[in-house]
Amino acid sequence: MLKTKILLGLLFILFGHCMLAQHQPCGYDLAVDQMEQKYPGYKQVVQQTMKKAKQNGAANRNSNMVYKVPVVIHIVWKNEEENLSEELINSQMEVLNEDFRRLNPNANEVREIFEDVVGDPMIEFELVEIIRTQTGNEFSLDIITGALPDIVKSSASGGSDGRDPERFLNIWICNIQPITLGTLTVGQLLGYAYPPAGLDHWPAGVNAPSPETEGVVLDYRTIGRNSPFTIDPGLGQEIQMHGRSATHEVGHYLGLMHIWGINEDPFGIQDSCNSDDGMDDTPNAGAQSIFDCDHTKNSCIIGTNDQLDMVENYMDYSNEACQNSFTMDQIAMMRGVLEGPRCGLVGLCDPTSSVNLLTSNVEIFPNPSSNQINIIGLNSSSDNFQYIIYNNFGQELFSGKGSSNSIDINHLNDGIYYLKLVSGNEELNLPFIKN
Ligand SMILES: [Zn+2]
Repeated sequence: MLKTKILLGLLFILFGHCMLAQHQPCGYDLAVDQMEQKYPGYKQVVQQTMKKAKQNGAANRNSNMVYKVPVVIHIVWKNEEENLSEELINSQMEVLNEDFRRLNPNANEVREIFEDVVGDPMIEFELVEIIRTQTGNEFSLDIITGALPDIVKSSASGGSDGRDPERFLNIWICNIQPITLGTLTVGQLLGYAYPPAGLDHWPAGVNAPSPETEGVVLDYRTIGRNSPFTIDPGLGQEIQMHGRSATHEVGHYLGLMHIWGINEDPFGIQDSCNSDDGMDDTPNAGAQSIFDCDHTKNSCIIGTNDQLDMVENYMDYSNEACQNSFTMDQIAMMRGVLEGPRCGLVGLCDPTSSVNLLTSNVEIFPNPSSNQINIIGLNSSSDNFQYIIYNNFGQELFSGKGSSNSIDINHLNDGIYYLKLVSGNEELNLPFIKN
């Protein structure tokens, strides 16, 4: 263990932030740091959003509603073994559904000291589609720039385009290349996910990460209850994974931080007891587990009621067999996110909000039409949008407020026209034919 720690320290000194991914199964910190660099204030926005989501969730803690999240899996493969079987994908879905319903076989292994704070998130995942894409590309973490392999999320760059990220949880599975230093393998990114940010809380003009980058990326060797593969997560030894990288990353996707919060030390050496995960019922932790299951671990000794680290939490980096629980505050947060920033996944978006107005499958019906057109598929109250009718030359003909979803086109000559819908920053252009 000591040897590992020394090695860890040295590597962190060499690579700073980039190596955050080295002994960690996911790139959450990296994703947040990258966004903070690009858009100063992002971390604060995420924190505020999380706080709000947690408050939402807390208010609904007693709700008995089981939230069902539709999942689209993208298998982006180069070598045949990366083209995972449907059986393995189903096994992964089972693990997710067990962990998010507290039906995991090891749920009863939670230590007595935490029994009162753990629970059933009542979130289920429904696989709606597996999209397979053969690629010639490789996917890796750029240790120089810290860039994550988001190219897997775009067909233009050898990946697979995500399906409507507001309504589906997209999970991309690919071979994430090991992190190397010359010929030496020094680490492995197992997966990553961006935290949610409520669109209305974002700094003005910020539209990134693009909606297309929402979702979870996982290495193919992390998939399934008993992966047929092994992977070296940066330990210097190959281990078999059991599908909990997905549980962990979906936790991030639904707003959870690591139990030690955001690592404030760029070199990852010092403990970060000052950083918190925003959860009252996860004991303060200052350092991650290193794929072990140390029930004596106590990285932050603070005050008289000090508690041991909760290494059985899915949001630690303990061994996957060691992980078995989400806490009630974490559950409130995740449910709050589904009721807030990611409401589109479970059909809960506030009907009076102007956000998401145009993101559903809006269509003009009938089309062609001679008298009036109806706008169908809007997921918001109709008086939150404006419409403008253009002719085929781009000239504005008339406009109005969406006080009704029907627009009279009786007076138009026969021809092709365009209907532009505007709501907040969103615009949508739809062609129609008057005949
Ligand atoms: Zn993580």
